[in-house]
Amino acid sequence: MLVIKRKSLIIISVLLMTAITFAICIGALKGGSAGAEASRMTVVLDAGHGGVDGGVTGVNTGVKESELNLMLVKDLQKYLEDAGLKVVLTRSSDAGLYGIATNNLKRKDMEKRKEIIEKAQPVLVVSVHLNQYSVSTRCGAQVFYKAGDENGKLLADSIQSEFNAMEEATRSLSALSGDYYILNCTQYPSVIAECGFLSNPREEELLLKEEYRDSLAYSMFKGIVSYIAQASMAD
Ligand SMILES: [Zn+2]
Repeated sequence: MLVIKRKSLIIISVLLMTAITFAICIGALKGGSAGAEASRMTVVLDAGHGGVDGGVTGVNTGVKESELNLMLVKDLQKYLEDAGLKVVLTRSSDAGLYGIATNNLKRKDMEKRKEIIEKAQPVLVVSVHLNQYSVSTRCGAQVFYKAGDENGKLLADSIQSEFNAMEEATRSLSALSGDYYILNCTQYPSVIAECGFLSNPREEELLLKEEYRDSLAYSMFKGIVSYIAQASMAD
């Protein structure tokens, strides 16, 4: 399996390089500095929560969403960097982003994330989260985008179809529009990838496995590559 995966990673990397080269050529044709910009294509990865805000917790083990989000983001970072993209993380440790503030922690944390995205000027943003629901049978990885954002929807659909194609997926879901700060705070195409339900015992067990997190990260990577290829064709 690993061999097959490596082979398809090489194919995907080649596809991504073609897409990036295409984007650079388009930029050069347009005559501006877009060519130079495209050669430094940046992706922002946002691991949801952190610090005092652990997010949701696993139904059986109490594992914190914030920790798993960070592991998923680091797995995805590796795939993207291996393919030649620049990756900026909003957080790279378990700490929150509210500094030494003692009040309005959540607001300060979210504003800092916005600041990091704006400074990075990325081609896209993926915010990684895990879900929770009152009914424990609810499961599946689902992607959200900002209503009316065409590129955000394209990115969300690309990642969603990779999630649906995963061996462990038990049902096919559609990407949905959602009204969330991280989607609305900048103009860059942004999605929230809810990578499963920690309220579902089977998904909690899977999410605790490195191999499964790696499959989720690889699916997001494939979705991102497919989006970049489609977006640069449509440019
Ligand atoms: Zn969350």
